[in-house]
Amino acid sequence: MNEIFENIKQVKQKIAEAAISVGRAPEEVTLVAATKMNDADRVKQAVAGGIDVAGENRVQELMDKYDKGAYEGVPLHFIGTLQTNKVKYLVGKVDLIQSVDSLKLVKEISRVAAKRGICQDILIEINIGGEESKSGISPSDLEEFIEEISKMNNVRVRGLMTIPPILSVGAKNEPYFRKMKELFVDISGKKYDNISMDILSMGMSSDFEEAIRCGATMVRVGTGIFGARHYS
Ligand SMILES: *Cc1c(COP(=O)(O)O)cnc(C)c1O
Repeated sequence: MNEIFENIKQVKQKIAEAAISVGRAPEEVTLVAATKMNDADRVKQAVAGGIDVAGENRVQELMDKYDKGAYEGVPLHFIGTLQTNKVKYLVGKVDLIQSVDSLKLVKEISRVAAKRGICQDILIEINIGGEESKSGISPSDLEEFIEEISKMNNVRVRGLMTIPPILSVGAKNEPYFRKMKELFVDISGKKYDNISMDILSMGMSSDFEEAIRCGATMVRVGTGIFGARHYS
């Protein structure tokens, strides 16, 4: 059997087990394949293998693979660092921009979406580890950020996303995942225009089961599906 197919089958099995272990239904968790550095053919194999969503990191890579039809059959998300000058390539083309980390960026998304007469779905990226070097909104600034976005007509917040700190061997991300879940529940309890909290995107190859046990509704898995990436 195709290796990518086999990997997806195993990842889905683990997703199901993690969900069931905390009394959740496996269908509550969406599997995003993080497709960076894998070519259009491999992405197509992953789509055929049953991933729910394709998640891309770089705009240029996304455009190339898009033109090759790599993502046909699944929704497409942008999950990488996004510069404002590249927003125009993504708005309306991707179903969800997961990595919105500044007011400047969300304003540009709103501007382009308005021009195109659409509403762009986004997630807010949270810097849950409070790392200076990391992008993302700090939890203490989140409410103010959301209040700003709720005034915009052409973006809709669908939830939160995070990439927790890279930890030393053996350390656990569970405390960060728990904090994310608390924030998510907190914001869900308040009513803002254009803001709904349906998606909590956290967990990667090494920790997606832990993230699911803490409440993730979406996991982003690269290595676990495609094998190790070869940086050249
Ligand atoms: C690459 C990437 C992932 C997946 O990482 P793996 O460790 O390979 O599973 C998830 N999220 C983002 C934002 C990524 O860039």
